[in-house]
Amino acid sequence: MELRQGHIRTFSFEFFPPKTLAGIDKLRNALAQLGSYGPKFFSCTYGAGGAARGRTLETVREIQSAGYAAAPHLTCVGSRPGQIEVLLDLYKREGIQHLVALRGDVPFAEQQPSEFRFASDLVAFIRRVTGTAFHLIVACYPEVHPQAPDARRDLEHFKVKVESGANAAITQYFYNPDAYFRFVEACEALHINIPIVPGIMPIGNFPQLVCFSNSCGAEIPRWLRLRMQAFGNDICSIRSYGLDVVTELCNRLLSGGAPGLHFYTMNDAELTSTIWQRLRF
Ligand code: FAD
Repeated sequence: MELRQGHIRTFSFEFFPPKTLAGIDKLRNALAQLGSYGPKFFSCTYGAGGAARGRTLETVREIQSAGYAAAPHLTCVGSRPGQIEVLLDLYKREGIQHLVALRGDVPFAEQQPSEFRFASDLVAFIRRVTGTAFHLIVACYPEVHPQAPDARRDLEHFKVKVESGANAAITQYFYNPDAYFRFVEACEALHINIPIVPGIMPIGNFPQLVCFSNSCGAEIPRWLRLRMQAFGNDICSIRSYGLDVVTELCNRLLSGGAPGLHFYTMNDAELTSTIWQRLRF
């Protein structure tokens, strides 16, 4: 099948900021290993899972000093415009060209009134204050964002976000390729024409994945859950079966015209590397 809408394929890898010296070493190894595959950029999460935000900048510098393009994630909920502007200024001076612009999730108790309610507000703000200085990437949800009232309105909100100035989107992870293809078709019907790059979550720690999927609204199909549960504590079988499943998913996405892949590496180069080496480009 042809590449959809003539987009150039892009591949990217996501990290979270490490907290320990051992974590920094692991990140450096992952950079060297995954960097050899020629990704468009390495992205780095921001404030996710309680990560201190200053560490995103440190990780971005680590990525750049290894000679790669970095795409910092930037969340807006609970932030003031002035704070975001300072950060944008800093990123411009650091030579950053790609940003992943997100709403973020702030616990109810910490919520404060903010000019930024949705990621579309952030995208519009970045465009207003920096023009076209950044290539803006946003998130989207083939299996529907967990807080969306319904699939149709989630898609309409995504369209607003794109029209606010997004250049590309990365999806939440999923294990059902049809969810992605149906979503892309629905986007095309609404004249959403930016590249929609599938987000790929390799399977390492299955109980952790189940826990995370419950909160972010990604579905683990029944057949996959039952097969994984049957492996019990047999980590080797979980990783091996997970590699087969995710590799097959990636190959189906690529052969179906996906404009690249974005890997949620969890800073583990091994899983992503093994999948990469089995891809049929
Ligand atoms: P939005 O696009 O604002 O959507 C959030 C919800 O609001 C959706 O239900 C949408 O339908 C609804 N909505 C949007 N606009 C409107 C409107 N005008 N009126 C009513 N409802 C509306 N989190 C982090 O904290 N740090 C990270 O680094 C991070 N990286 C991520 C990277 C990717 C690729 C993805 C997919 C997610 C990431 N997240 C991260 C998680 C993300 O912050 C959450 O999924 C969050 O709940 C939604 O973010 P969003 O940018 O998609 O929000």
